[in-house]
Amino acid sequence: MNITCSLRLLAVALACAGILSCSGPGEKVFRKGTVLMDTMVTVTVVAASEEKAGAAIEKAFGVIAHLDGLLSAFSEQSEVSLVNRSAGIAPVKVSAETLELTAMALDVAEKTDGAFDITIGAESVLWDFVTKRRPDDAVIRERLGLVNYRLVRIDKKQSTVFLPKKGMRIDLGAVAKGYAADKAVEELKRQGLAAGLVAVAGDIRGYGRKPDRSGWSVGIRNPRMTGRDDEIMAVLELRDRAVSTSGDYERYFILDGKRYHHILDPGTGYPAAGCRSVSVVAPMGAGADAFSTAVFVLGPEKGMAVLEMAGLEGVIVDKDGRVRATPGLRDRIAFQGNN
Ligand code: ADP
Ligand code: MG
Repeated sequence: MNITCSLRLLAVALACAGILSCSGPGEKVFRKGTVLMDTMVTVTVVAASEEKAGAAIEKAFGVIAHLDGLLSAFSEQSEVSLVNRSAGIAPVKVSAETLELTAMALDVAEKTDGAFDITIGAESVLWDFVTKRRPDDAVIRERLGLVNYRLVRIDKKQSTVFLPKKGMRIDLGAVAKGYAADKAVEELKRQGLAAGLVAVAGDIRGYGRKPDRSGWSVGIRNPRMTGRDDEIMAVLELRDRAVSTSGDYERYFILDGKRYHHILDPGTGYPAAGCRSVSVVAPMGAGADAFSTAVFVLGPEKGMAVLEMAGLEGVIVDKDGRVRATPGLRDRIAFQGNN
């Protein structure tokens, strides 16, 4: 992330620190934001005092920062980078968290026929959406042989991950934020807070009820805003669930009239073309995060089928702007405007 972007996020973070609203006797809603995992993290909790809320939120931020240190593909010191540097050489001993998330990611790859594939790292590292770097077609083609989740070897007893081919890379960018939201929620619960909402950019996990007994309202962004009023496409009430949105508008550039974005089709190495955005509702953040990316790659038809098979709910905006929602979500989501 570039510095201007970091500063802008930091400014937003500082602006949204403090008490959000008061409702009900005793318990209040508190919110604090900061920049972690190269993005905006906001934690909202229900607590009896600002001190209790503040301390718990700081602990939750600490959990997310720790996970970023393990999972980031950008930091040389992370476990993921170590696994990638050791590709074709040796298995790497990793933490329980990195092992758990890698295993979970391979499971989703299996369930989505490889539309979700963390070995996309060999291709994703070629793209730069800040400097607008589009890799050479020949290099993209060459590296496709390094993209295959079935080759990843996990040893649960030894807690190791091994990439058998030199040049293979794993990229947990499509699951790390949802997983971090899960772990932050675990920490809030450990701190004794009865309700909270953790948002790591578009990966959001909520639990418990607000003091007025309602669930958490979460806005789903319109992938093609034309003005300020259409920023939010739909509002969802989240009760003990996670929602994750993957879109082609977060990290992208336009070159010769064509949009290039960060969700890649592991079959081709190029951005997936079937959707503008996909939101998935699941019990856990990691699952919602992985499946929102997977469904994006699969496109609307196959994506809806996979959601149904996995027993998950979701909303898909396809490449032409058509919106589809799974039956279970239709009553729980309020669409704004014309969508
Ligand atoms: P965001 O990072 O905006 O929340 P996603 O959760 O969809 O969006 O993750 C996109 C990131 O995941 C990319 O930046 C890349 O690091 C990685 N990625 C891209 N395509 C795939 C894929 N097909 N399977 C797994 N990971 C992917
Ligand atoms: Mg994702």
